Amino acid sequence: MNEITRTAARHPFLDGKPKRMLIDGKWLEAASGKTFETTNPATGEVLARVAEGDAEDIDRAVAAARRAFTGPWSKFKPFERQALLLKLAALVEAHFDELAMLDTLDMGAPISRTRGNRLRALGMLRYYAGQAVSILGETIENSLPGEIMSFTLKEPVGVVGAIIPWNGPLTATIWKIGPALATGCTVVLKPAEEAPLTSLRLAELCQEAGVPPGVVNVVPGFGETAGAALAAHRDVDKVAFTGSHLTGQKIIQASAGNLKRVSLELGGKSPDVVFADADLDAAVPGAGMAVFANSGQICSAGTRLFVERKIYEEFSARVAAYGKSLRVGDGADPETQVGPLVSAEQLDRVTGYLAIGRQEGARPLSGGERLTEGAMAKGFFVPPTVFADVRDEMRIAQEEIFGPVISAIPFDDIEEVITRANATSFGLGSGLWTRDVSKAHKLARAIRAGSVWINCYQAMDPAVPFGGYKMSGYGRESGKQHVEEYLNVKSVWIRAD
Ligand code: ADP
Repeated sequence: MNEITRTAARHPFLDGKPKRMLIDGKWLEAASGKTFETTNPATGEVLARVAEGDAEDIDRAVAAARRAFTGPWSKFKPFERQALLLKLAALVEAHFDELAMLDTLDMGAPISRTRGNRLRALGMLRYYAGQAVSILGETIENSLPGEIMSFTLKEPVGVVGAIIPWNGPLTATIWKIGPALATGCTVVLKPAEEAPLTSLRLAELCQEAGVPPGVVNVVPGFGETAGAALAAHRDVDKVAFTGSHLTGQKIIQASAGNLKRVSLELGGKSPDVVFADADLDAAVPGAGMAVFANSGQICSAGTRLFVERKIYEEFSARVAAYGKSLRVGDGADPETQVGPLVSAEQLDRVTGYLAIGRQEGARPLSGGERLTEGAMAKGFFVPPTVFADVRDEMRIAQEEIFGPVISAIPFDDIEEVITRANATSFGLGSGLWTRDVSKAHKLARAIRAGSVWINCYQAMDPAVPFGGYKMSGYGRESGKQHVEEYLNVKSVWIRAD
């Protein structure tokens, strides 16, 4: 049995055959005939070979998406789009465990986490189903003389290029496809090269749900080729991008050719502030999982842990002990709490920062080294790490690591911590732990970030907007704002006298 067929025994989607791309309702090989491997980061085993799309495939997919947009799809009534989304939700529910396992195998997250995304994934699809029948224009009183009436129509922006990262493939795919289907847009989605499988499986379910050909197209491939071609394509009306801020900057440049609309959900270096009056028994695991969840591969992870000085040593030690108590291992094991990093490249990046932290004089209280014992040697495992004695100017306090690494920093008073929490070019998430409602309110107002979590971290809901300030990007996903990102406003005037 070769590696691929061994895995196939575990998962119905992994049947040993190369995975093709979905363009215009057909499963195609890349125009170039090229493929790439996708591997399990816990074991190094090859899961599948996948068609490697590039500019030519993006061209074909965008043309299909344009035809679908102007063709039959444009005639779909809101309730028909709603029905499609509800059907897709039912299919995702029926196949949920399989989709969760595919995420786990392809990018490493613990199965407890990927299965735990159930409510969120289904909730998103059903929320967008509701939004499909809630698109409203306005009738607006104007002050012109005579009988002239004005109102607005909301219309789909058109062909959307969606580019997603690997850190949560199922929900990331739904986050792009959902609002497109709700509004009547069409999509060309490029999954991340590290973890393309779940997007492809979800595309199969879209077909099964009855999504017409060309409405959802999925073109796997690399960022510099397929991704760049999609961002630059003249017939794409909007790019919805989630990923690093450096790629976000390239996307904006690439979008300039036809001035396409862009929404960006980028990285972060989010502050998590713990006051001495907090419920520390809740704050220890809360602040820990704000970073250790998904091995720190979450853009809004609370990686700058500001702790009030009088509890700094005790609290940092408790978070480190909590980190040590977590079970690190293959995500497919139901007992695993922290899985591997997604790739060798990500491992190099994170271990590079571990070395930088030590060189800068930070003191590791837990973790700090790659794990290579036994079967771990084949994967990309880094244990939960807490660095103490971190100063604001250190690179581990300023740069996004995207690994399970907390930089614990002491502070003395609220004004000071506000200034220091905001002293970052990012502004995605933020947290604070206190029993004092006035402190909570003051910080919630003062922190320049798109989300503030008080006595919790990383709460997400399909109805609540999520997105960045500053270099964490612009545009919002989830909530009513998300659907608006996929709509144009047209003003209509009627002279009636
Ligand atoms: P990460 O470092 O987390 O992988 P990236 O921003 O590089 O983040 O990747 C997120 C997504 O952006 C992936 O799908 C990747 O292929 C894509 N990507 C990378 N570079 C480019 C680019 N120059 N243009 C468009 N997409 C890109």
